[in-house]
Amino acid sequence: MTVLVLGGAGYIGSHMVDRLVEQGSDVAVVDNLVKGHRAAVRTEARFYQGDIRDKDFMRSIFTKEDIKSVVHFAAYSIVPESMEKPLDYFDNNTAGLINVLEVMNEFDVKRIVFSSTAATYGTPDSVPIKETDTQKPINPYGESKLMMEKIMRWTDQAYGIRFVALRYFNVAGAKADGSIGEDHGPETHLVPIVLQVANGQRDKLKIFGDDYDTPDGTNVRDYVHVVDLADAHILALKYLEDGNKSDVFNLGSATGFSNRQILEAARKATGKTIPAEDAPRRLGDPDTLVADSSKARTILGWQPQYDDIEKIIATAWKWHSTHPNGYNDK
Ligand code: UDP
Repeated sequence: MTVLVLGGAGYIGSHMVDRLVEQGSDVAVVDNLVKGHRAAVRTEARFYQGDIRDKDFMRSIFTKEDIKSVVHFAAYSIVPESMEKPLDYFDNNTAGLINVLEVMNEFDVKRIVFSSTAATYGTPDSVPIKETDTQKPINPYGESKLMMEKIMRWTDQAYGIRFVALRYFNVAGAKADGSIGEDHGPETHLVPIVLQVANGQRDKLKIFGDDYDTPDGTNVRDYVHVVDLADAHILALKYLEDGNKSDVFNLGSATGFSNRQILEAARKATGKTIPAEDAPRRLGDPDTLVADSSKARTILGWQPQYDDIEKIIATAWKWHSTHPNGYNDK
């Protein structure tokens, strides 16, 4: 029996495939390679290039493979891009999921773990955020993921497709040996951008907004190491395989770091100066996002191994300093 990883050539998906293979699972990967990288996927996994919105393609995979569970990462996830191109997000993320569920239902595959996001909460009423807190997204990315969660609830009720939605906070880092890591083109995320400045590939970091309602005026986010995040998916698969009910879990560290603190941690982790300047706010950013992830710890038994932001950034630095051009460097 096979675990099908959708979006397995992306940043988080490739780390998931790596962990699954290391743990002896049989893995098949689907990715359209619009954002993902073929070289990020372990050769032990069978790779199929195609789009989750292409039903005939998806049917062909479910026909060839004996799939027991699906892990779904194939989505767009850039907040500012979603503000400019909302329809792309509703199409790829929300409509994409509908297609996946239709094919799963046709082939009687009843388990799916998928990436949701802290962006479904919008501007939180209080922090740390609990799963039961109000979800009122302030950007189309968060809205597209909230719609996915809602669709999953109804398809569970109607067809018995059990799901785990993992609401990620911010993800950073890379596999400790530096063999796979984050490679987005163009890059928009804070940690890789800071490290590109450290590497001399950018002149300086622009910190978006210095007048937020936070201790130093810059946004506060909660960072989880990508391998810890992948491990939460493996626990979620087991949770569903054990016959448990559909559920949602926050994945965060419960500690917030401001954008300035991330810059300082990166300076320490890299030993580089890293020039930075304040810049105007970016659209769609809430002041603070910090998770209460006690539910994942209690119910899934999730125990993140990385609890130190400098160490998380050091693993990302190992990847970026050895692969300044990402997977083009191999
Ligand atoms: N950010 C920044 N400069 C950059 C990129 C990001 O100041 O060049 C800020 C961004 O405004 C947000 C935080 O870093 O406050 C995290 O943004 P990122 O895009 O990494 O993740 P998101 O929170 O959008 O998922």
